[in-house]
Amino acid sequence: MAKKEIKKTTPTKGTKDLSLDFKGVWEYAPAPEDSKHITIKPQYDLFINGKFVKPMSKKYFDTINPATGVKLSEVADANEKDVDLAVKAARNAYDNVWSKMPAKERGKYLYRIARMIQERAREFSVIETLDGGKSIRESRDIDVPLAANHFFYYAGWADKLDYAFPNRKPESIGVAGQIIPWNFPLLMAAWKIAPALATGNTVVLKPSETTPLTALKLAEIMQECGLPDGVVNIVTGAGVTGAAIVNHPDINKIAFTGSTGVGKYIQKAVAGTNKKLTLELGGKAAHIIFDDAPIDQAVEGIVNGIFFNQGHVCCAGSRLFVQESVAEVVIRKLKDRLQTLIIGDPMDKNTDIGAINSQKQYDSINNYLKIAKNEGLDIYQPTCSIPSKGLFIRPTLLLNASQSHKVVQEEIFGPVLAIQTFRTIEEVIEKANNTPFGLSAGVWTDKGAKIFNLTTKLKAGIVWANTYNKFDPTSPFGGFKESGFGREGGLHGLMPYLNF
Ligand code: NAD
Repeated sequence: MAKKEIKKTTPTKGTKDLSLDFKGVWEYAPAPEDSKHITIKPQYDLFINGKFVKPMSKKYFDTINPATGVKLSEVADANEKDVDLAVKAARNAYDNVWSKMPAKERGKYLYRIARMIQERAREFSVIETLDGGKSIRESRDIDVPLAANHFFYYAGWADKLDYAFPNRKPESIGVAGQIIPWNFPLLMAAWKIAPALATGNTVVLKPSETTPLTALKLAEIMQECGLPDGVVNIVTGAGVTGAAIVNHPDINKIAFTGSTGVGKYIQKAVAGTNKKLTLELGGKAAHIIFDDAPIDQAVEGIVNGIFFNQGHVCCAGSRLFVQESVAEVVIRKLKDRLQTLIIGDPMDKNTDIGAINSQKQYDSINNYLKIAKNEGLDIYQPTCSIPSKGLFIRPTLLLNASQSHKVVQEEIFGPVLAIQTFRTIEEVIEKANNTPFGLSAGVWTDKGAKIFNLTTKLKAGIVWANTYNKFDPTSPFGGFKESGFGREGGLHGLMPYLNF
């Protein structure tokens, strides 16, 4: 390990610079993950009825590594006819095979899928990082193990639905159309497919157009594990393909995770039909630090809450509320911590912050930074180097934010933290709830009573206390208000796939 000298941060205009001089911070030698063991085909077709088939559209689109700009593969662009074939395959498999199969046999397939994800964990992690830009540490330690755990967890429920819902005789629904975003591609596929299959439904899933590869690799597992044809169908494409799923008359349930804007469109589209709907949408979480909090742990929690996965997390703690008496010390410690974060090659195991997922998202985040500047906010970014190529944005603090700022009201979905102060508990509850979203929140305090008081008053589906961004297949996840409705994970995650 060599020592590196990092230049002192430029003091933000109008604020006293209290940050440490970081002479002598350790620099790690590069530790890139190997990608020679993985195979990415030059072209991927649609996975329909257990086979990879050419799209009727005859069209393909590129999927690109956002850290390098290099094309990884081209992927089929499904049109309405392709979606119709996938729905027919799913209907046939539902009517003739899957809904008739004894529940414990369904469970065995789910266990098999879980084990095969574990066996191929390294391959999945590398492909997730190459296609999505997130650091290999996250893909390896969070996305892939959690995806396998979801299949394990729901495999266990498959033959115990009568115990899960005593005296209620739950029944499967039919064909589920599932549409997912790009921030946790494999994990979101697992969140959707595992409970649907465990409850006896069949699936047509569409991954995001910027991160289709791990869902297609998952399709390979579906083939290898002998899953009956048509039980899981994977169609790739953008919004038009998603809309074809939403509007297909033979789909019984839509499960959507993505932006609030598209969620609103989908809710209108299914209104008046008998399709069931769950929406997991955007967020603008409040992360609250009281003066009695363990400050160093809280700072680590804040960093994990917003800079993890480049801030591409629906439940990211993107609004920080610090009690006034500790604001100076918290901000100083935050700046110091940001100075030590490593931004760059997502394939390097030392990297904390990888690449922004797409050019569109990169432009959108930079546009919000411009808005913040025009709104007169003090912007702090560490002086660390970032690669000259690829889509990288330094972690950013917006220091003198207030409720009326656009960057406080809207979801940025990037590594940008807006900081406000508060004096009383009533004030922070009102400010935290003053948003159209209601997905998650975080509280740091030494007092259990304060935690219970806040968790009942914060309008958020998930509230973490003295920790942040912790996920578990046994815990339900979902929002209030414009963050959507319905729960995924846990016992609650079975309900949207059942009729009672
Ligand atoms: P997005 O809404 O742009 O796209 C999500 C998916 O919907 C993609 O597969 C896309 O192709 C598809 N889509 C786009 N237009 C469509 C249409 N008209 N009809 C049907 N499908 C359509 O969202 P994104 O940019 O991919 O993801 C980021 C958003 O997802 C953020 O707002 C984030 O908060 C949210 N998100 C929420 C959760 C949650 O659990 N609440 C989890 C992850 C991400």
